[in-house]
Amino acid sequence: MHLEGKVALVTGGSRGIGRDIVMALSNAGAAVAINYQQRKEAALQVKAEVESVKGKALLCRADVTLLPECEQMVQEILDHFGKIDILVNNAGVRRDNLLAVMKSTDWDAVVDTNLKGVFNCCKAVMRPLLKQKRGGRIINIASVAGLSGNSGQTNYAAAKAGVIAFTKSLAKELGRREITVNAIAPGFIETEMTAGLAEPWQETVRSQIALQRFGKPAEVAAAVVFLAGADASYITGSVLSIDGGLSL
Ligand code: NAP
Repeated sequence: MHLEGKVALVTGGSRGIGRDIVMALSNAGAAVAINYQQRKEAALQVKAEVESVKGKALLCRADVTLLPECEQMVQEILDHFGKIDILVNNAGVRRDNLLAVMKSTDWDAVVDTNLKGVFNCCKAVMRPLLKQKRGGRIINIASVAGLSGNSGQTNYAAAKAGVIAFTKSLAKELGRREITVNAIAPGFIETEMTAGLAEPWQETVRSQIALQRFGKPAEVAAAVVFLAGADASYITGSVLSIDGGLSL
């Protein structure tokens, strides 16, 4: 229980990788604010799971693309738990298409959620984190696409590459405050986001993964718990690939 007494916010905590991050942080002892945008039922289920093992959870609806909603969410967390120590920027969407036919609305939706959402949530926690003077942890879920690019994902890859550059820049800004900022670059993880991809394409990807299988959300969550804890105190500005060797 090495995160006992810590308070964490997980954006997009209602399902997929975010759900497993919530559970892993809670199992490590943290109180967790579960952010969602639309699927309240799914978020309520995650909250109930946390509480069923005597964990502390708070549900926070907010659209991460909107700064006022992120600020309101952080205020709710401060009112409820009194502080915030860990921010996990996990909320994300994809709207894949070749650039020739990609609509600008699909560009905007992905960049607004995956990149501006990270900016908005970091902005919203900045004042409390600095005021608390207790250090802190920011963990941004990027993607292997942000390192290597991916055909059909110019919007997604550009946003995730932006998240990586943002992470490194903020790590430099906040180092003297003992706030670490790191990114995780997952490969192909089994969630709703990837479930709809065509089987032949999945086979092609699987054959390129050294471990010859897709990852599980829990395998990403375990790295988040590590980066959130004291054992990762000298790690900042790093990008941890969790991709079974896809990017080799
Ligand atoms: P997912 O199953 O589709 O879940 C997405 C989550 O993001 C949901 O909780 C959703 O909330 C939330 N969300 C979406 N737009 C939001 C907004 N505007 N405001 C607040 N919350 C919002 O996705 P996932 O596969 O778990 O992916 C999680 C993260 O990992 C994403 O950043 C994704 O890019 C990244 N990633 C995933 C993979 C993969 O293979 N799955 C690989 C690399 C990186 P609602 O439930 O309310 O809609």
